[in-house]
Amino acid sequence: MPTVAHQELCSRMMVPGSERLARIWEMLCDEADAKLLLAMPGTAQELAEKCSLPLDETARRLDELYFKGVAFESEKPQGTVFRAPRHLIQFHDASVQWPDAPEAYYDEWSGFMANEYPPLVRMLLDTGFPVFMRVLPISDTVKSLEGRLRCEGVENIIEDADMIALCMCPCRLTEKAHDKASREVCIQINKGANYNIKRGTGRQITKEEALALLHECEGNGLVHFTDAKAGLGTFICNCCDCCCAIIRPYMKDEKLRGILAPSRYQPRVDPEPCMQDGVCRDICPVGAITLEAGAPCPEIDADLCIGCGLCVDSCAFGALSMRQVRPPEFIPA
Ligand code: SF4
Ligand code: SF4
Repeated sequence: MPTVAHQELCSRMMVPGSERLARIWEMLCDEADAKLLLAMPGTAQELAEKCSLPLDETARRLDELYFKGVAFESEKPQGTVFRAPRHLIQFHDASVQWPDAPEAYYDEWSGFMANEYPPLVRMLLDTGFPVFMRVLPISDTVKSLEGRLRCEGVENIIEDADMIALCMCPCRLTEKAHDKASREVCIQINKGANYNIKRGTGRQITKEEALALLHECEGNGLVHFTDAKAGLGTFICNCCDCCCAIIRPYMKDEKLRGILAPSRYQPRVDPEPCMQDGVCRDICPVGAITLEAGAPCPEIDADLCIGCGLCVDSCAFGALSMRQVRPPEFIPA
């Protein structure tokens, strides 16, 4: 049975009273662990004192919580300080990578993401929570356009990285979808890469390997996402419309579209070379393209389009091209 401490952890994730989330916490930690998490931040010594636990037991518990993805370390003048997840997304993404998670753990998360996550996102957006991520267009579709920003190129983000790790996609893990190899598509950079390599949930890859993977993902119809803000990227997600915790809410209703910032680009169609084969319509991850029978070319819903460039990249007849539709300031500094 989830305890009061487990319930309190749910409240800290802004989902008070969630029975499903309480069961998730209960699978991860017993009551003493939950109390340690509630007592964070602190060093092992400070947490041991706050929770009246022997230091060696506290250190062992903190190690396990770190491994499970619910305690995070940072080096401070007073020593290693542990903190709990800052918000539900961090909690989800790190803890579903827990290598020893039972099957039921993913089932609970899958149920949560389908039923309780959209109302949470709606509430967060209502309270002014900033957009979660932005779309990075496929570079080959925008590279030649004047005014492209450095932070809009996946190859630039990779080039600027000091350390890169390849990890399992948290959304694909949660949904237990796709084969194991196809789940390994999440790129973490610098701090996130170090964290995942140390925790054993990611493996270091070279810049060349990262670029090859990104290219392969584009060919498989996956959309690149990164930090909403401009500047050095800290991750590049490669997302599918069936599992992604961003695309799925985006598709649910207009209000939830605030979760994702589109790129500054949108495709336009040239009817002349279009062969009406519908390839662009089929690959669009958000259903923004329609192709009526007998129409000379597809139509694009500009309000729905996220500017990923997949349609442009997939058109074998060169009938689609990207153009800039938003100013550079659209990407927050
Ligand atoms: S993929 Fe190209 S040729 Fe095919 S329908 Fe779309 S625009 Fe036309
Ligand atoms: S129409 Fe669809 S596939 Fe094309 S850029 Fe927009 S979201 Fe991407």
